[in-house]
Amino acid sequence: MKVTIDGKKIEAKLGETILEAAVRAGVEIPNLCYIEAFGGQGVCRMCMVEVKDGEQKRLVASCTYPITGEIEVQTNTPELQEIRRNIITLLYRRAPNSDFMKKLYQEYVCPAVEVVDPAEKCIMCRLCVKACEKVGAFAISTIMRGTEKRVATPFDEASPSCIGCGACAEICPTGAITVKEENGKQEIWHKSFEMSRCEICGNYYSTLPVKEHVKEQLDNEVSGENLCPSCRRKKLAGDLAKFSIK
Ligand code: SF4
Repeated sequence: MKVTIDGKKIEAKLGETILEAAVRAGVEIPNLCYIEAFGGQGVCRMCMVEVKDGEQKRLVASCTYPITGEIEVQTNTPELQEIRRNIITLLYRRAPNSDFMKKLYQEYVCPAVEVVDPAEKCIMCRLCVKACEKVGAFAISTIMRGTEKRVATPFDEASPSCIGCGACAEICPTGAITVKEENGKQEIWHKSFEMSRCEICGNYYSTLPVKEHVKEQLDNEVSGENLCPSCRRKKLAGDLAKFSIK
Protein backbone atom coordinates (compact mmCIF):
# COMPACT_ATOMS: atom_id res chain seq x y z
CA MET A 1 0.00 0.00 0.00
CA LYS A 2 1.09 3.58 -0.58
CA VAL A 3 2.10 5.83 2.29
CA THR A 4 3.21 9.44 1.94
CA ILE A 5 6.10 10.59 4.15
CA ASP A 6 7.03 14.27 3.87
CA GLY A 7 5.41 14.36 0.43
CA LYS A 8 7.33 11.31 -0.79
CA LYS A 9 5.19 8.33 -1.83
CA ILE A 10 6.60 5.03 -0.63
CA GLU A 11 5.42 1.44 -0.74
CA ALA A 12 4.69 0.05 2.75
CA LYS A 13 3.88 -3.46 3.97
CA LEU A 14 0.75 -4.07 6.04
CA GLY A 15 1.65 -4.05 9.75
CA GLU A 16 5.17 -2.65 9.49
CA THR A 17 5.82 0.48 11.51
CA ILE A 18 6.13 3.96 10.03
CA LEU A 19 9.78 4.03 11.09
CA GLU A 20 10.55 0.70 9.40
CA ALA A 21 8.91 1.89 6.16
CA ALA A 22 10.78 5.20 6.39
CA VAL A 23 14.16 3.51 6.97
CA ARG A 24 13.59 1.25 3.97
CA ALA A 25 12.70 4.24 1.81
CA GLY A 26 15.72 6.23 3.00
CA VAL A 27 13.64 8.84 4.88
CA GLU A 28 15.35 9.86 8.10
CA ILE A 29 13.32 10.06 11.32
CA PRO A 30 15.38 10.98 14.39
CA ASN A 31 15.41 8.33 17.10
CA LEU A 32 17.53 7.22 20.05
CA CYS A 33 16.24 3.81 21.09
CA TYR A 34 15.52 2.08 17.79
CA ILE A 35 17.70 -0.81 16.57
CA GLU A 36 16.42 -2.80 13.61
CA ALA A 37 17.15 -6.18 15.26
CA PHE A 38 15.19 -5.26 18.41
CA GLY A 39 12.22 -3.50 16.76
CA GLY A 40 10.56 -0.38 18.19
CA GLN A 41 10.44 0.21 21.93
CA GLY A 42 8.62 3.59 22.03
CA VAL A 43 10.87 4.71 24.87
CA CYS A 44 12.67 7.89 23.80
CA ARG A 45 9.78 9.48 21.80
CA MET A 46 12.27 11.26 19.52
CA CYS A 47 10.66 9.52 16.53
CA MET A 48 7.26 11.19 17.03
CA VAL A 49 5.58 12.04 13.74
CA GLU A 50 2.28 13.55 12.67
CA VAL A 51 -0.10 11.09 11.02
CA LYS A 52 -3.05 12.18 8.89
CA ASP A 53 -5.57 9.37 8.55
CA GLY A 54 -8.57 10.69 6.57
CA GLU A 55 -9.52 13.95 8.29
CA GLN A 56 -7.87 12.97 11.59
CA LYS A 57 -4.42 14.18 12.56
CA ARG A 58 -2.47 12.89 15.54
CA LEU A 59 1.03 12.58 16.91
CA VAL A 60 2.39 9.05 17.27
CA ALA A 61 5.69 7.29 17.99
CA SER A 62 6.71 6.10 14.51
CA CYS A 63 8.71 3.14 15.85
CA THR A 64 5.60 1.43 17.28
CA TYR A 65 2.78 2.74 15.04
CA PRO A 66 1.76 -0.01 12.57
CA ILE A 67 0.67 0.91 9.06
CA THR A 68 -2.80 -0.48 8.38
CA GLY A 69 -3.95 1.79 5.59
CA GLU A 70 -3.00 4.70 3.37
CA ILE A 71 -1.79 7.55 5.57
CA GLU A 72 0.10 10.81 5.22
CA VAL A 73 3.03 11.35 7.56
CA GLN A 74 4.91 14.54 8.41
CA THR A 75 8.21 14.08 10.24
CA ASN A 76 9.42 17.62 10.83
CA THR A 77 6.65 20.12 11.61
CA PRO A 78 7.35 23.03 14.03
CA GLU A 79 5.36 21.13 16.69
CA LEU A 80 7.53 18.03 16.25
CA GLN A 81 10.71 20.12 16.31
CA GLU A 82 9.56 21.60 19.63
CA ILE A 83 8.82 18.13 21.04
CA ARG A 84 12.33 16.93 20.05
CA ARG A 85 13.94 20.03 21.55
CA ASN A 86 12.12 19.38 24.84
CA ILE A 87 13.08 15.69 24.87
CA ILE A 88 16.73 16.48 24.15
CA THR A 89 16.82 19.22 26.78
CA LEU A 90 15.46 16.81 29.41
CA LEU A 91 17.83 14.02 28.39
CA TYR A 92 20.79 16.36 28.27
CA ARG A 93 20.02 17.61 31.78
CA ARG A 94 19.81 13.99 32.89
CA ALA A 95 23.06 12.95 31.17
CA PRO A 96 25.16 16.12 30.72
CA ASN A 97 28.41 14.24 30.85
CA SER A 98 27.64 12.34 27.67
CA ASP A 99 29.38 13.71 24.57
CA PHE A 100 26.64 12.12 22.50
CA MET A 101 23.94 14.13 24.34
CA LYS A 102 26.06 17.28 24.27
CA LYS A 103 26.28 17.04 20.48
CA LEU A 104 22.52 16.49 20.12
CA TYR A 105 21.79 19.41 22.45
CA GLN A 106 24.04 21.67 20.39
CA GLU A 107 22.48 20.48 17.14
CA TYR A 108 18.81 20.65 18.16
CA VAL A 109 18.55 23.13 21.02
CA CYS A 110 21.40 25.54 21.45
CA PRO A 111 25.03 25.66 20.23
CA ALA A 112 26.22 26.85 23.66
CA VAL A 113 25.92 23.94 26.11
CA GLU A 114 25.02 24.58 29.74
CA VAL A 115 27.81 24.00 32.23
CA VAL A 116 26.70 21.17 34.49
CA ASP A 117 28.77 18.44 36.03
CA PRO A 118 27.15 15.26 37.31
CA ALA A 119 28.74 12.08 36.00
CA GLU A 120 25.50 10.69 34.61
CA LYS A 121 25.52 9.60 30.97
CA CYS A 122 22.50 7.29 30.80
CA ILE A 123 19.45 8.50 28.86
CA MET A 124 17.27 5.50 29.77
CA CYS A 125 16.81 4.28 26.20
CA ARG A 126 16.81 0.66 27.54
CA LEU A 127 18.88 -0.64 24.63
CA CYS A 128 21.33 -2.23 27.09
CA VAL A 129 18.51 -4.08 28.87
CA LYS A 130 17.18 -5.31 25.53
CA ALA A 131 20.68 -6.43 24.43
CA CYS A 132 21.13 -8.40 27.65
CA GLU A 133 17.74 -10.05 27.13
CA LYS A 134 18.79 -11.05 23.58
CA VAL A 135 22.01 -12.56 24.99
CA GLY A 136 19.76 -14.57 27.29
CA ALA A 137 21.37 -13.30 30.50
CA PHE A 138 18.65 -10.95 31.87
CA ALA A 139 21.30 -9.53 34.21
CA ILE A 140 20.20 -5.87 34.17
CA SER A 141 16.87 -4.06 34.29
CA THR A 142 15.38 -0.65 35.05
CA ILE A 143 14.76 -0.01 38.72
CA MET A 144 13.11 2.78 40.77
CA ARG A 145 10.70 5.37 39.33
CA GLY A 146 10.58 8.95 38.07
CA THR A 147 13.84 10.90 38.26
CA GLU A 148 15.38 8.05 40.32
CA LYS A 149 14.85 5.54 37.52
CA ARG A 150 18.05 3.85 36.34
CA VAL A 151 19.49 0.65 34.88
CA ALA A 152 21.09 -1.69 37.40
CA THR A 153 21.82 -5.25 38.41
CA PRO A 154 19.60 -6.72 41.17
CA PHE A 155 20.44 -4.93 44.47
CA ASP A 156 23.31 -3.15 42.66
CA GLU A 157 25.42 -6.27 43.20
CA ALA A 158 27.26 -8.62 40.85
CA SER A 159 24.61 -10.56 38.97
CA PRO A 160 25.19 -14.34 38.80
CA SER A 161 23.75 -14.38 35.28
CA CYS A 162 26.06 -11.69 33.81
CA ILE A 163 28.67 -13.31 31.55
CA GLY A 164 30.62 -10.12 30.87
CA CYS A 165 29.91 -10.18 27.13
CA GLY A 166 29.84 -6.37 27.01
CA ALA A 167 26.85 -6.30 24.60
CA CYS A 168 25.16 -3.75 26.87
CA ALA A 169 28.17 -1.39 26.77
CA GLU A 170 28.66 -1.93 23.03
CA ILE A 171 25.10 -0.93 22.16
CA CYS A 172 24.82 2.05 24.55
CA PRO A 173 24.64 5.23 22.40
CA THR A 174 26.05 7.48 25.13
CA GLY A 175 28.91 5.35 26.48
CA ALA A 176 27.24 5.19 29.91
CA ILE A 177 28.35 1.65 30.80
CA THR A 178 31.92 1.27 31.94
CA VAL A 179 33.96 -1.77 30.96
CA LYS A 180 37.45 -1.96 32.47
CA GLU A 181 40.04 -4.27 30.95
CA GLU A 182 43.35 -4.76 32.73
CA ASN A 183 45.91 -7.56 33.14
CA GLY A 184 43.72 -10.24 31.64
CA LYS A 185 40.67 -9.24 33.68
CA GLN A 186 37.50 -7.45 32.64
CA GLU A 187 35.21 -5.58 35.01
CA ILE A 188 31.60 -4.68 34.32
CA TRP A 189 28.52 -4.25 36.52
CA HIS A 190 30.38 -4.89 39.83
CA LYS A 191 31.79 -8.16 38.50
CA SER A 192 35.30 -9.17 37.49
CA PHE A 193 35.95 -11.80 34.81
CA GLU A 194 39.06 -13.77 33.81
CA MET A 195 39.72 -13.30 30.12
CA SER A 196 40.66 -15.80 27.50
CA ARG A 197 43.88 -15.29 25.51
CA CYS A 198 44.19 -15.95 21.77
CA GLU A 199 46.67 -18.79 21.20
CA ILE A 200 48.04 -17.13 18.04
CA CYS A 201 48.34 -13.37 18.71
CA GLY A 202 48.25 -13.52 22.51
CA ASN A 203 45.59 -10.80 22.85
CA TYR A 204 42.88 -11.10 25.48
CA TYR A 205 39.58 -11.20 23.60
CA SER A 206 36.69 -12.63 25.60
CA THR A 207 35.62 -13.48 29.13
CA LEU A 208 35.67 -17.16 30.15
CA PRO A 209 31.88 -17.34 30.72
CA VAL A 210 31.33 -15.94 27.20
CA LYS A 211 33.59 -18.70 25.83
CA GLU A 212 31.56 -21.28 27.73
CA HIS A 213 28.36 -19.71 26.43
CA VAL A 214 29.63 -19.90 22.81
CA LYS A 215 30.84 -23.47 23.38
CA GLU A 216 27.32 -24.47 24.34
CA GLN A 217 25.96 -22.94 21.13
CA LEU A 218 28.60 -24.19 18.64
CA ASP A 219 30.13 -27.54 17.88
CA ASN A 220 33.32 -28.32 19.79
CA GLU A 221 35.56 -28.35 16.71
CA VAL A 222 35.00 -24.63 16.16
CA SER A 223 34.66 -23.52 19.78
CA GLY A 224 37.55 -25.69 21.05
CA GLU A 225 40.12 -23.41 19.41
CA ASN A 226 41.26 -20.52 21.53
CA LEU A 227 41.34 -17.84 18.84
CA CYS A 228 40.30 -14.19 18.77
CA PRO A 229 37.86 -13.22 15.97
CA SER A 230 40.66 -11.69 13.85
CA CYS A 231 42.98 -14.75 14.05
CA ARG A 232 40.01 -17.08 13.52
CA ARG A 233 39.17 -15.21 10.29
CA LYS A 234 42.82 -15.36 9.11
CA LYS A 235 43.04 -19.06 9.91
CA LEU A 236 39.80 -19.77 8.08
CA ALA A 237 41.03 -17.80 5.04
CA GLY A 238 44.28 -19.82 5.13
CA ASP A 239 42.39 -23.12 5.37
CA LEU A 240 40.14 -22.15 2.47
CA ALA A 241 43.14 -21.11 0.36
CA LYS A 242 44.51 -24.67 0.63
CA PHE A 243 41.40 -25.90 -1.17
CA SER A 244 41.31 -23.17 -3.81
CA ILE A 245 41.38 -24.15 -7.48
CA LYS A 246 44.87 -23.65 -8.90
S1 SF4 B 1 27.85 -7.79 30.08
FE1 SF4 B 1 26.43 -8.78 31.54
S2 SF4 B 1 24.82 -7.22 31.78
FE2 SF4 B 1 25.95 -6.64 29.89
S3 SF4 B 1 24.78 -7.67 28.21
FE3 SF4 B 1 26.46 -9.09 28.82
S4 SF4 B 1 25.47 -10.44 30.33
FE4 SF4 B 1 24.12 -8.64 30.15
